Amino acid sequence: MIADSMKSFVKNSSAIRAMFEEGKKMAQEYGAENVYDFSLGNPNVPAPAEVKEAIIKELEDDDPVMLHGYMSNSGYEDVRKAVADSLNQRFGTAFHENNIVMTVGAAGGLNVILKTILNPGDQVLAIAPYFGEYNSYVANYQGEVVVVSPDTETFQPNLKELEKKITGKTKAVIVNSPNNPTGVVYSEETIKAMAGILEKKEQEFGTDIYLISDEPYRELAYDGVEVPYLTKYYKDTIVGYSFSKSLSLPGERIGYLVIPDEAADAEDLQNGANVATRILGFVNAPSLMQRAVARCLDAKADVPYYDRNRNALYQGLKDLGFSCIKPEGAFYLFVKSPVEDEKVFCEAAKKYHILIVPGSSFACPGYVRIAYCVAYETILNSMPGFEKLAEEFGLRK
Ligand code: PLP
Repeated sequence: MIADSMKSFVKNSSAIRAMFEEGKKMAQEYGAENVYDFSLGNPNVPAPAEVKEAIIKELEDDDPVMLHGYMSNSGYEDVRKAVADSLNQRFGTAFHENNIVMTVGAAGGLNVILKTILNPGDQVLAIAPYFGEYNSYVANYQGEVVVVSPDTETFQPNLKELEKKITGKTKAVIVNSPNNPTGVVYSEETIKAMAGILEKKEQEFGTDIYLISDEPYRELAYDGVEVPYLTKYYKDTIVGYSFSKSLSLPGERIGYLVIPDEAADAEDLQNGANVATRILGFVNAPSLMQRAVARCLDAKADVPYYDRNRNALYQGLKDLGFSCIKPEGAFYLFVKSPVEDEKVFCEAAKKYHILIVPGSSFACPGYVRIAYCVAYETILNSMPGFEKLAEEFGLRK
């Protein structure tokens, strides 16, 4: 019999994944071109050409024994150095290889750092709306997620509530900008204010509060919007990065953690993350992918592709009477449901073969998430369905 704790994980298994499976079934039944699957953040643009070239070069040039072998649990030293150098060049930081731990995507990185820092009962603040998997990652180490409720005007963090919810048991705050599901980029002003609150609370409680910056969407920002690099604003910041979205490599499972020397107990954290990578069973991030991404640190995500989708979807839905804020990054639109129970709206959308995810999966009911990392035609062809929904729910008379 499976563990009781696992039973509840299975029961609450991600609504997003369930929808993805449903989409595949619908595609078989009605034809893929007649299904508008906006459920999963699975990039549909190919990885940049540099990735293929890098993989081929590694396979051709590298010693195969070394290429496919074990290495330090934190990753190849030269890869970590290349990552550190690239960050220093881009953000004016001063990282070195010991600040970098290669990870199995952002999900692997978050699990490694949470395993490293959490004692049972420690609290982790998550700012709604947030990626629902954080609940499982924190529960994996018997931590407790404390939800900071959303500011639905701006979807910037509700800092007053954040401040109130920090206690002596707060071990970390997780932020994600550009944000899944809203596409909002946390402004420099917000980050500075948040850093001030965290510093004050560290002093008040005599504790270390880590700011975990989950950044799979860093490279996906539109209209020249700057995404602040958080280690520059708050010393106890740990960055979790992923190549899943920027280089369209979600199935390859590759990313890294940045653990700066300035962070409290940095050396313990770095050693802890090394051991956590091993004992969680990852052992190390995939070796070929480590070497490949090190050659592609300057490769560019196809931002114009997503930008065209963003504009078409945003304008199309606005014209139909839906309300949402225009995303500045990532590839999601977070739309106000025309009925209070957004699950009713998501169910109704299925009639038109439109698959969208309820906001309650992101601790923000009353909204729905539409992932626009799809073909441009999918957006255009879904519009008649959205129009019928707008009529059905009284947005258009
Ligand atoms: N964090 C956020 C906010 C995400 O949206 C995702 C994936 O969608 C992840 C983490 C996990 O990313 P990865 O595929 O790199 O594990």
